[in-house]
Amino acid sequence: MSRASAHQLGFLALAILACAGTADGEPEKAPFALVIHGGAGTIRAEDFTAEREAAYRGALTAALDKGSGLLAGGASSLDVVEAVIREMEDDPLFNAGRGAVFTAAGRNELDASIMDGATTLAGGVAGVTRVRHPISAARAVMERTNHVLLAGAGAERFAEAQGLEMVDPEFFWTESRWQSLERAREKESRETAAQAEPFGTVGAVALDRNGRIAAGTSTGGMTNKKHGRIGDSPIIGAGTYANERCGVSATGHGEYFIRFAVAFDICARLRSGELTLEQAADQVIHGVLGEAGGKGGIIALDDAGTPVLIFNTDGMYRGYRVAEGEPVVAIFKND
Ligand code: ASP
Repeated sequence: MSRASAHQLGFLALAILACAGTADGEPEKAPFALVIHGGAGTIRAEDFTAEREAAYRGALTAALDKGSGLLAGGASSLDVVEAVIREMEDDPLFNAGRGAVFTAAGRNELDASIMDGATTLAGGVAGVTRVRHPISAARAVMERTNHVLLAGAGAERFAEAQGLEMVDPEFFWTESRWQSLERAREKESRETAAQAEPFGTVGAVALDRNGRIAAGTSTGGMTNKKHGRIGDSPIIGAGTYANERCGVSATGHGEYFIRFAVAFDICARLRSGELTLEQAADQVIHGVLGEAGGKGGIIALDDAGTPVLIFNTDGMYRGYRVAEGEPVVAIFKND
């Protein structure tokens, strides 16, 4: 599903339906669309039990249903991106919020960002340890400060002052992520460099009935990351970007996504007018990023609601839903 394929054809049919006028001549409301990811990485069918696979597919479908229902009811893309990501932050299956991976020091340090394509306003938080929903803190930075990015203790004080839900750092602890840290530590003592476990992270891009695009991303970062390390997810232009024509949320090895300003680059290539969104994303993920050794993927939407889901890893938890069409969910490369 990572390249143009059957799902794109299905989407085209839906888009044509969505753009057609109504039978009674009323102008049709703009199509709406939602695309989400739950991280990319070494995600292979043979490593999954049927139950585990079903749990991921169920969680992705539930997130899509929730977001699409809100969009159908006229919610703004910003509200939908925030609501969907909050739900995924609470799900321990994903590396964001509860279920976030651990730093080398055995802590959970969370990063998130959100961007409103219509206004190009944006907000992010980095390295927070007590904010239950980092995506909501990112939105508060965007809407209630003159800044774009707040980090660490300052971000936490701000979130608390805004009345956001604060939790004990223990809230984010899960056994499976702790085991991942133990494995990474063992590996590190055998090899010289730290090797990350499969990437995680959650993201959403929405196009609402008013044609406004928003994008957001939230993560615990990479297992065994150094204390204080900040990845691409809270960095506007790297892990998240949106303008009036395009929205992108990324997942993968953050250092590469920062160096190549991946989310921005995809939207900039689309703006050149010579490429479709799929071609732009393909050039960046398989070309620029892949050639440099960067691993990961993106989800994106253009202003027609075309969903693009591209990655250069074994798999990416992902899904999309266009207008009233069926939700489409996939995990592995050949799903
Ligand atoms: N991009 C995230 C980071 O580098 C990790 C991920 O997507 O899994 O922090």
